[in-house]
Amino acid sequence: MAYYILDNCIECGACMNECPEGAITEGSPYRIDPSLCTECGACAEVCPVEACMPMPEKAEGAK
Ligand code: SF4
Ligand code: SF4
Repeated sequence: MAYYILDNCIECGACMNECPEGAITEGSPYRIDPSLCTECGACAEVCPVEACMPMPEKAEGAK
């Protein structure tokens, strides 16, 4: 399990700065490396558009 970033990401970079694992990389949208993510939720807390989600099913359904 890992957090995912949805397509509504506005590429603000807030999550990348907050991630304690360095699991987030720049992109369109930004990406989370599932092998590094510990599901701490820090990215979801700072995301202004709620693009960081813990459920892969939701990530697929929101496209
Ligand atoms: S849940 Fe935590 S470890 Fe995973 S990408 Fe977000 S900030 Fe990084
Ligand atoms: S905080 Fe949200 S909108 Fe900003 S880069 Fe991360 S996922 Fe995208």
